[in-house]
Amino acid sequence: MRSATFRFYAELNDFLPPGERQREVVRIFPDSPSVKDQIEACGVPHTEVDLVLVNGRSVGFDHRLSDGDCVSVYPVFEALDVTPLVHHRPKPLREVRFVLDTHLGKLARRLRLLGFDAIWRRDATDAELVSLSLSERRILLTRDRGILKRREITHAAAIRATEARRHLLEVVERFDLARSAAPFTRCLACNGGLVGVPKESVLDRIPAETRLHYDEFLTCTACARVFWWGPHSRRLREIVEEALRGP
Ligand SMILES: [Zn+2]
Repeated sequence: MRSATFRFYAELNDFLPPGERQREVVRIFPDSPSVKDQIEACGVPHTEVDLVLVNGRSVGFDHRLSDGDCVSVYPVFEALDVTPLVHHRPKPLREVRFVLDTHLGKLARRLRLLGFDAIWRRDATDAELVSLSLSERRILLTRDRGILKRREITHAAAIRATEARRHLLEVVERFDLARSAAPFTRCLACNGGLVGVPKESVLDRIPAETRLHYDEFLTCTACARVFWWGPHSRRLREIVEEALRGP
Protein backbone atom coordinates (compact mmCIF):
# COMPACT_ATOMS: atom_id res chain seq x y z
CA MET A 1 0.00 0.00 0.00
CA ARG A 2 1.03 3.60 -0.61
CA SER A 3 -0.01 6.85 0.99
CA ALA A 4 -0.33 10.55 0.23
CA THR A 5 -1.04 13.58 2.42
CA PHE A 6 -4.02 15.75 1.51
CA ARG A 7 -4.85 19.29 2.61
CA PHE A 8 -8.12 20.88 1.55
CA TYR A 9 -8.56 24.64 1.66
CA ALA A 10 -11.37 26.98 2.63
CA GLU A 11 -14.93 25.86 1.94
CA LEU A 12 -13.82 22.46 0.60
CA ASN A 13 -13.49 21.56 4.26
CA ASP A 14 -17.29 21.59 4.50
CA PHE A 15 -17.33 18.28 2.62
CA LEU A 16 -14.98 16.52 5.04
CA PRO A 17 -15.88 14.73 8.28
CA PRO A 18 -15.42 17.15 11.22
CA GLY A 19 -12.23 15.45 12.45
CA GLU A 20 -10.52 15.88 9.07
CA ARG A 21 -11.15 19.60 8.48
CA GLN A 22 -8.44 22.27 8.28
CA ARG A 23 -5.63 19.76 8.66
CA GLU A 24 -3.46 17.31 6.78
CA VAL A 25 -5.09 13.95 6.15
CA VAL A 26 -3.18 10.85 5.12
CA ARG A 27 -4.87 8.55 2.62
CA ILE A 28 -3.74 5.02 1.88
CA PHE A 29 -4.28 3.42 -1.53
CA PRO A 30 -3.10 0.52 -3.70
CA ASP A 31 -1.36 1.09 -7.05
CA SER A 32 -1.39 4.67 -8.32
CA PRO A 33 -4.94 6.06 -8.48
CA SER A 34 -5.78 9.39 -10.10
CA VAL A 35 -5.77 12.42 -7.86
CA LYS A 36 -9.43 12.97 -8.81
CA ASP A 37 -10.42 9.53 -7.45
CA GLN A 38 -8.70 10.20 -4.15
CA ILE A 39 -10.18 13.70 -3.81
CA GLU A 40 -13.64 12.24 -4.30
CA ALA A 41 -12.84 9.37 -1.92
CA CYS A 42 -12.28 12.09 0.70
CA GLY A 43 -15.86 13.25 0.09
CA VAL A 44 -15.09 16.35 -2.00
CA PRO A 45 -16.85 16.51 -5.40
CA HIS A 46 -14.29 17.28 -8.10
CA THR A 47 -16.66 19.92 -9.53
CA GLU A 48 -15.94 22.06 -6.45
CA VAL A 49 -12.19 21.95 -7.08
CA ASP A 50 -10.36 24.53 -9.13
CA LEU A 51 -6.72 23.75 -8.54
CA VAL A 52 -4.69 20.78 -7.35
CA LEU A 53 -1.04 20.98 -6.43
CA VAL A 54 0.98 17.81 -5.99
CA ASN A 55 4.28 18.48 -4.25
CA GLY A 56 3.83 22.14 -5.14
CA ARG A 57 3.15 21.60 -8.84
CA SER A 58 -0.17 22.20 -10.53
CA VAL A 59 -1.58 18.96 -11.98
CA GLY A 60 -4.64 17.78 -13.91
CA PHE A 61 -7.34 15.55 -12.40
CA ASP A 62 -5.91 12.50 -14.17
CA HIS A 63 -2.53 12.87 -12.47
CA ARG A 64 -1.44 9.55 -10.92
CA LEU A 65 -0.41 9.64 -7.28
CA SER A 66 2.85 8.23 -5.98
CA ASP A 67 3.82 7.15 -2.50
CA GLY A 68 4.58 10.14 -0.24
CA ASP A 69 2.92 12.80 -2.40
CA CYS A 70 1.66 16.02 -0.76
CA VAL A 71 -1.61 17.16 -2.31
CA SER A 72 -3.14 20.63 -1.83
CA VAL A 73 -6.67 21.09 -3.09
CA TYR A 74 -8.19 24.54 -3.65
CA PRO A 75 -11.70 25.71 -4.50
CA VAL A 76 -12.20 28.42 -7.13
CA PHE A 77 -12.12 31.02 -4.41
CA GLU A 78 -8.69 30.14 -3.13
CA ALA A 79 -7.03 29.85 -6.48
CA LEU A 80 -6.99 33.59 -7.16
CA ASP A 81 -3.30 34.28 -6.90
CA VAL A 82 -1.82 30.84 -7.23
CA THR A 83 0.63 30.55 -10.08
CA PRO A 84 1.16 27.15 -11.68
CA LEU A 85 4.62 26.59 -10.23
CA VAL A 86 4.36 27.51 -6.61
CA HIS A 87 6.00 25.31 -4.02
CA HIS A 88 4.35 23.69 -1.10
CA ARG A 89 4.57 25.91 1.95
CA PRO A 90 3.10 26.10 5.41
CA LYS A 91 1.18 29.30 4.65
CA PRO A 92 -1.72 29.73 2.25
CA LEU A 93 -0.56 30.73 -1.17
CA ARG A 94 -2.27 34.02 -1.65
CA GLU A 95 -2.78 37.15 0.38
CA VAL A 96 -6.42 37.54 1.30
CA ARG A 97 -7.87 41.05 1.25
CA PHE A 98 -11.32 42.22 2.18
CA VAL A 99 -13.79 45.00 1.67
CA LEU A 100 -16.68 45.13 4.14
CA ASP A 101 -20.17 46.58 3.97
CA THR A 102 -21.26 49.50 6.14
CA HIS A 103 -22.72 47.22 8.87
CA LEU A 104 -19.42 45.48 9.51
CA GLY A 105 -17.13 48.19 10.89
CA LYS A 106 -16.32 46.21 14.01
CA LEU A 107 -15.40 43.13 11.99
CA ALA A 108 -13.17 45.28 9.77
CA ARG A 109 -11.24 46.54 12.82
CA ARG A 110 -10.88 43.00 14.11
CA LEU A 111 -9.57 41.69 10.80
CA ARG A 112 -7.02 44.54 10.86
CA LEU A 113 -6.12 43.50 14.39
CA LEU A 114 -5.14 40.11 12.95
CA GLY A 115 -3.13 41.89 10.26
CA PHE A 116 -5.52 41.52 7.32
CA ASP A 117 -6.07 44.24 4.78
CA ALA A 118 -9.71 45.23 5.35
CA ILE A 119 -11.30 48.28 3.75
CA TRP A 120 -14.37 49.72 5.44
CA ARG A 121 -16.10 53.05 5.10
CA ARG A 122 -19.18 54.14 7.01
CA ASP A 123 -20.68 55.80 3.92
CA ALA A 124 -19.69 53.38 1.14
CA THR A 125 -22.41 52.65 -1.40
CA ASP A 126 -23.10 49.15 -2.73
CA ALA A 127 -21.67 50.20 -6.10
CA GLU A 128 -18.44 51.34 -4.45
CA LEU A 129 -18.11 48.09 -2.50
CA VAL A 130 -18.60 46.03 -5.65
CA SER A 131 -16.16 48.16 -7.58
CA LEU A 132 -13.46 47.82 -4.88
CA SER A 133 -14.00 44.09 -4.70
CA LEU A 134 -13.53 43.71 -8.46
CA SER A 135 -10.73 46.20 -9.08
CA GLU A 136 -8.58 45.17 -6.11
CA ARG A 137 -9.63 41.52 -5.99
CA ARG A 138 -10.97 41.87 -2.48
CA ILE A 139 -13.41 39.46 -0.93
CA LEU A 140 -16.59 41.37 -0.20
CA LEU A 141 -17.97 40.55 3.23
CA THR A 142 -21.56 41.52 3.79
CA ARG A 143 -24.61 40.95 5.94
CA ASP A 144 -26.79 42.09 3.05
CA ARG A 145 -27.64 39.11 0.88
CA GLY A 146 -29.11 41.42 -1.75
CA ILE A 147 -25.70 42.62 -2.79
CA LEU A 148 -24.50 39.04 -3.35
CA LYS A 149 -27.08 38.60 -6.09
CA ARG A 150 -25.44 41.22 -8.28
CA ARG A 151 -24.16 39.44 -11.33
CA GLU A 152 -20.78 41.13 -11.54
CA ILE A 153 -19.70 39.96 -8.06
CA THR A 154 -17.06 37.24 -8.21
CA HIS A 155 -15.68 37.03 -4.68
CA ALA A 156 -17.99 37.60 -1.78
CA ALA A 157 -19.29 35.92 1.32
CA ALA A 158 -22.34 36.45 3.48
CA ILE A 159 -21.65 36.77 7.18
CA ARG A 160 -24.11 34.41 8.82
CA ALA A 161 -23.50 34.84 12.54
CA THR A 162 -25.85 37.33 14.15
CA GLU A 163 -23.62 38.01 17.12
CA ALA A 164 -20.80 40.47 16.33
CA ARG A 165 -18.36 38.55 18.51
CA ARG A 166 -18.81 35.50 16.25
CA HIS A 167 -18.18 37.37 12.99
CA LEU A 168 -14.42 37.25 13.24
CA LEU A 169 -14.37 33.55 14.15
CA GLU A 170 -16.62 32.81 11.20
CA VAL A 171 -14.35 34.61 8.72
CA VAL A 172 -11.14 33.11 10.15
CA GLU A 173 -12.57 29.63 9.86
CA ARG A 174 -14.19 30.06 6.47
CA PHE A 175 -11.08 31.46 4.78
CA ASP A 176 -8.61 29.43 6.79
CA LEU A 177 -6.89 32.59 8.04
CA ALA A 178 -5.28 31.43 11.26
CA ARG A 179 -1.91 30.53 9.74
CA SER A 180 -1.50 33.74 7.79
CA ALA A 181 -2.51 36.12 10.57
CA ALA A 182 0.05 38.73 11.61
CA PRO A 183 -1.51 40.33 14.70
CA PHE A 184 -0.64 43.93 15.61
CA THR A 185 0.85 44.83 12.24
CA ARG A 186 -2.01 46.99 10.94
CA CYS A 187 -3.72 50.15 12.17
CA LEU A 188 -7.20 49.41 13.53
CA ALA A 189 -8.37 52.89 12.67
CA CYS A 190 -7.31 53.27 9.05
CA ASN A 191 -5.96 49.91 7.74
CA GLY A 192 -2.41 51.32 7.30
CA GLY A 193 0.71 49.33 8.22
CA LEU A 194 2.33 49.66 11.67
CA VAL A 195 6.06 50.03 12.23
CA GLY A 196 8.08 50.19 15.43
CA VAL A 197 9.51 53.63 16.23
CA PRO A 198 11.95 54.93 18.85
CA LYS A 199 10.30 56.51 21.87
CA GLU A 200 12.08 59.83 21.28
CA SER A 201 10.33 60.25 17.95
CA VAL A 202 6.82 60.12 19.43
CA LEU A 203 7.30 61.98 22.72
CA ASP A 204 5.23 64.92 21.54
CA ARG A 205 2.33 62.66 20.58
CA ILE A 206 1.83 60.60 23.75
CA PRO A 207 0.41 61.51 27.17
CA ALA A 208 2.90 62.37 29.92
CA GLU A 209 1.79 59.33 31.95
CA THR A 210 2.49 57.02 29.01
CA ARG A 211 5.98 58.52 28.60
CA LEU A 212 6.77 57.37 32.12
CA HIS A 213 5.53 53.80 31.86
CA TYR A 214 6.13 52.57 28.31
CA ASP A 215 9.12 52.27 26.03
CA GLU A 216 7.88 50.42 22.97
CA PHE A 217 5.84 52.27 20.40
CA LEU A 218 4.35 51.61 16.99
CA THR A 219 3.14 54.17 14.52
CA CYS A 220 0.82 53.93 11.55
CA THR A 221 2.51 54.67 8.24
CA ALA A 222 -0.75 56.08 6.86
CA CYS A 223 -2.45 58.12 9.62
CA ALA A 224 0.53 58.56 12.03
CA ARG A 225 -1.41 57.45 15.11
CA VAL A 226 0.84 56.08 17.85
CA PHE A 227 0.19 52.77 19.65
CA TRP A 228 1.71 51.15 22.73
CA TRP A 229 1.07 48.13 24.92
CA GLY A 230 -1.06 49.73 27.62
CA PRO A 231 -3.72 48.07 29.79
CA HIS A 232 -6.16 48.40 26.86
CA SER A 233 -4.11 45.94 24.79
CA ARG A 234 -4.99 43.01 27.05
CA ARG A 235 -8.51 42.92 25.58
CA LEU A 236 -7.08 43.02 22.07
CA ARG A 237 -4.77 40.12 22.85
CA GLU A 238 -7.76 38.13 24.10
CA ILE A 239 -9.61 38.75 20.83
CA VAL A 240 -6.55 37.61 18.84
CA GLU A 241 -6.12 34.48 20.93
CA GLU A 242 -9.77 33.52 20.65
CA ALA A 243 -9.76 34.03 16.88
CA LEU A 244 -6.61 32.01 16.27
CA ARG A 245 -7.36 29.19 18.68
CA GLY A 246 -9.61 27.60 16.08
CA PRO A 247 -12.95 25.84 16.39
ZN1 LIG B 1 -3.68 54.47 10.71
